Amino acid sequence: MKQSPQLKKIKDEVISCQKCPLYKTRNMPVIGQGNHEADIMFIGEAPGANEDRTGFPFCGRAGDILDRLLTSANLKREDIYIANILKCRPPANRNPDKNEIKACSLYLQKQIESIKPKLICTLGNFATAFIFEQYGLNEKIQGIGKLHGLLHKTNGISIMPLYHPAVATYNANMIELLIEDFKKIKLRTDLVGGIS
Ligand code: URA
Ligand code: SF4
Repeated sequence: MKQSPQLKKIKDEVISCQKCPLYKTRNMPVIGQGNHEADIMFIGEAPGANEDRTGFPFCGRAGDILDRLLTSANLKREDIYIANILKCRPPANRNPDKNEIKACSLYLQKQIESIKPKLICTLGNFATAFIFEQYGLNEKIQGIGKLHGLLHKTNGISIMPLYHPAVATYNANMIELLIEDFKKIKLRTDLVGGIS
């Protein structure tokens, strides 16, 4: 797979980053993983305990669910790129705070600029609100319960908000709903042989 020099540079910057206090408590930063020329990017919230230990996104229980969902969308991890808003784990998996998002999101913006995805799938409320703001959709921001599975097109990019896969670890009934939403991604890729 082609390696992008821009993504290598972002990785080096994140490894030495001290722009917010989270670098003090994290073990490994989690930069991102996948195809550097992916048409589809998935954006999560922040590393959890397993990710903090390994340096890879979505490698714990939520990751197992994500893999199952990707399979239902006919996608493999090597087809896509996965990154989080925060690169370092918030202690005890608390929510990201505003200042941390402000400090860290520059890395995510640069990752998006480098990869140039055609579709961004946001996982959960934080990623959805952040990406909607980035693409001028502030007025459309609502809870993920309202936005999930609905495609938004803006400035040449498509955005599909999805529930965060971790919801299925608290509520097993959610998996069916998640699968339904992920199948919409499959439908789009099947129809156009890529994402238009
Ligand atoms: N949850 C996230 O949002 N990201 C991860 O990488 C793992 C769990
Ligand atoms: Fe830097 Fe982001 Fe880690 Fe904060 S969370 S230290 S901004 S890489």
